[in-house]
Amino acid sequence: MGEPPPAPRTRPGTFARAWAKAVSGTSYLPMPQAQLEALLQRLTDQLAGALQAEPFDLRPGHRVGAELVANHIASAEGLGRTVEVVQLRLVRDLGLVADDVEDRMARLLAAVATGYARALRDRTLDEQESIRRAVMAARTQAERALRASEARFRHQATHDSLTELPNRALFTERLTAALNEPGRGAERLGLCFLDLDRFKVVNDSLGHQVGDRLLTMVSSRLRRALDGHLVARIGGDEFVVLVERTGGTADVVAVADTALAAVCEPALVDGHELCVTASIGIVEQQVAGTTPGDLMRAADATLHWAKAAGGARWEVYDADRNGRERARYALSAAIPAALDRGEFYLEYQPLTSLRDGRLLGVEALVRWRHPELGVLRPDSFIGLAEETGLIVPLGGWVLAEACREAERWSGRGAPAPFVSVNLAVRQVHRPDLVQEVRALLKRTGLPPERLQLEITESTMMSTTEEPVKALRVLADLGVRIAIDDFGTGYSNLAYLRDLPVTELKVAGEFVAGLRAPAAEPTRRTDERILASLVSLAHALDLTVTAEGVETAGQAERLRAIGCDAGQGWHFGRPAPAERILERIG
Ligand code: C2E
Ligand code: CA
Ligand code: CA
Repeated sequence: MGEPPPAPRTRPGTFARAWAKAVSGTSYLPMPQAQLEALLQRLTDQLAGALQAEPFDLRPGHRVGAELVANHIASAEGLGRTVEVVQLRLVRDLGLVADDVEDRMARLLAAVATGYARALRDRTLDEQESIRRAVMAARTQAERALRASEARFRHQATHDSLTELPNRALFTERLTAALNEPGRGAERLGLCFLDLDRFKVVNDSLGHQVGDRLLTMVSSRLRRALDGHLVARIGGDEFVVLVERTGGTADVVAVADTALAAVCEPALVDGHELCVTASIGIVEQQVAGTTPGDLMRAADATLHWAKAAGGARWEVYDADRNGRERARYALSAAIPAALDRGEFYLEYQPLTSLRDGRLLGVEALVRWRHPELGVLRPDSFIGLAEETGLIVPLGGWVLAEACREAERWSGRGAPAPFVSVNLAVRQVHRPDLVQEVRALLKRTGLPPERLQLEITESTMMSTTEEPVKALRVLADLGVRIAIDDFGTGYSNLAYLRDLPVTELKVAGEFVAGLRAPAAEPTRRTDERILASLVSLAHALDLTVTAEGVETAGQAERLRAIGCDAGQGWHFGRPAPAERILERIG
């Protein structure tokens, strides 16, 4: 057995126990009573030693104060009770004898209080410090988390989730930065605006999943092939490539060629071998004097040229062409106001019988008396009105006006001619076409047999059944239906059998061939084509009108072939309604 563990030098005496009793309860004490008494006994010894030491030293007092705080006797009340019990009992309980013990006691207690206060302050500072550190650590962590989520958020905001390519926002940001880079004004840059051809067909026929995979595949091919250029996805199947530095158009054309080659490689998606092509609009120009918006609009317009030219190609932006198209757009946008102001009027062109020269009908042809541009022919505004949909109100006016005027041609000696009105595809596809025509006939009093509707072959070839049903209802009412410009479209006679058609209008191109000398082989071919067309039409109970008849010779050939009627300068140019009245009268 060795020495017992270090123990308090003295067992807790009366004073230490009284002290312990005084302070317990003043603050939370994390130790049992016995341990507290032992501690206070040690401190009692130190205080007693200090009171008697020569020379008198305040430092043990400081230490006692500090130790009390270190042992969590750290409340203001704990100090108060300590001072009280030491002052009242220490000298008496321990039977101390010293010179000027009263004075020493006062200074010693002051030292205890000082040590106590300092320790308490230090501990508070420590606590504050650790709180501050904890706050800092928490803040750093929060900031890091925030930065991580900001980065994630920024990535999401600037990238397309399907393909992971940069999106329009990031593209615009980069383009803006490239345009605003100081000192770059004289340099050039380029854009390729790429759109897949007929992507909708893939989506509609094979499903969106296949469509999505195809887009992902195209994206990664573009990214790989155009390494070094920013490739962004800015819409369903629309991509744009930024060529930040170019030496001229050729550089961007090379990028476009690479992109087209990358896209058109066959792709195996879900067991389907897909061959897609793309169209590209190219803009290449000096950095100075342009904006991201200008560039994107120009590239977009150019993309449409590439599409209109059949796709699978690029086109380069041409400012003059764009100017002309914008003028056309402006013209078409002016149509509603022009309708309100009554700037449109109709001319009528005779449809003449090749058998007896009788006036069978007239075709209504729209004219625009434009306040600045003079009288405009339909070719300059009908096409665009069809694209923009403004053909619906315009065509509606033409139909109503033609019926209104034609009604007045009746009641004279000769049988009144029918009026033949051109209907655009959009008009035929309108669900209320039948109702509109019926109401019109009722309002104007024009008999149905005196109205003919001219529609093109492509309108009839539509994939939906509705337009055909509508035309059948109209035909049943007695309205005549003619196929316009026959021969320029599908020229498929087989489908005519099932359609409610009364008449074929053979396009002027075929008739033009009849002008050539009789010996010329092309003339003989055209004549043979026309002859077989006429006999086929007759077999289907259709009448045939030849368009663009300019000479008596052509009229004679057509009559010999068996053509029923003719239209063209030879019979009469388009003219105002009064002139038609003269011919009837
Ligand atoms: P279209 O239906 O084929 O009309 C015949 C066009 O040929 C008319 O041109 C007419 O003036 C022209 N023409 C007549 N005879 C001859 C001839 O002997 N030789 C030549 N070279 N041309 C002749 P226009 O009036 O300029 O009309 C052009 C096209 O505009 C029309 O072609 C028609 O597709 C369209 N259009 C005219 N009015 C309307 C309308 O009210 N609605 C719709 N949707 N289209 C219309
Ligand atoms: Ca026509
Ligand atoms: Ca025609």
